[in-house]
Amino acid sequence: MKIVTTPYELKLTKPFGLARSTRTTNSIVLVKLDDLGYGEASPSAYYGEDVPTVIQTITQAVPKISIYPLYINEIMSQLNQQFPSNAAARAAIDMALYDILAKRLRLPLHAYLGIAPPRCAQTSFTIGIAPIEEMLKKVDDARHHPILKIKLGKDPDHDLTVMREIRKRTNQTIRVDANGGWTLDNALTCIKALADMDIEYVEQPLEKGSLADLAQLKKASPLPIFLDEDVLVSSDIPKVAGTCDGINIKLMKCGGITEAMKMIHTARAFDLQIMLGCMIESSLAITAASHLASLVDYLDLDGNLLVSNDPFQGMILEKGYLRVPETPGLGATPRQDIAELCEAGII
Ligand code: MG
Repeated sequence: MKIVTTPYELKLTKPFGLARSTRTTNSIVLVKLDDLGYGEASPSAYYGEDVPTVIQTITQAVPKISIYPLYINEIMSQLNQQFPSNAAARAAIDMALYDILAKRLRLPLHAYLGIAPPRCAQTSFTIGIAPIEEMLKKVDDARHHPILKIKLGKDPDHDLTVMREIRKRTNQTIRVDANGGWTLDNALTCIKALADMDIEYVEQPLEKGSLADLAQLKKASPLPIFLDEDVLVSSDIPKVAGTCDGINIKLMKCGGITEAMKMIHTARAFDLQIMLGCMIESSLAITAASHLASLVDYLDLDGNLLVSNDPFQGMILEKGYLRVPETPGLGATPRQDIAELCEAGII
């Protein structure tokens, strides 16, 4: 199978801050397999991946695919065993294989998977952590998005001050994500106060691995709790089932569409709600994830909206509503003005 891998630097329209770090760019790897299938890896240092590990994994893994690409479940379970710590790289391969198959069968990916296109799912738009005035400016600039996801997790003073100011300005639906930045006491204080501000739910309140504290928090919390950093793949779900109300599935954490589908079914078996999230990604990976939208409860597919030099186009947002292309495959195509991609053979 022919492989082309191209590192690409996504430039962010504004600096993007989490409880852990702030960034102005994000490095991804674009992949093209057999001159037909596109894939993308957005590696995260937090999960132990970067551009060199992604390229190395793809270069090693793809030639090992000896099975007919139709049998994606078998291929991906072999790659899971061989490259267990390289989820973003596996996601790029999985995405490209699905793109090849669905294009050959002339079906949009969601139809190939037996999934209805997203009809009424609205996605949130994320506001990163910044000084309060800057966050308020970002909220003002995001008035046209129906749902906001506010990054918190600094300290209760900062977090509650910024949320009170935001609530004074807007009636938009608001979710918050603490990215594991709170202690149990801080989480209890913040969540009780947030409940009075009509917040929809709270994501990853405590540091990854704090399951005993989470169980205690869930009992006391007036708001639903979703886990992100604690839940990477389907086998993590039974461990957290009693400690949360829902989970955040991301292609880059779990290793692609194959594992994401397994996670969706596992979460439902445990009566958990599901949000479909993303890293900072181009429209290629966001479009791939969008095909799963009608299987989940909440969408947080906004990574491409934070980028000023998106190399792909695909899904579109109309007043926050997601629409996926009805063209064969992922329906994501390179923008014609990206010269580096032409040189690398991606276009
Ligand atoms: Mg999160």
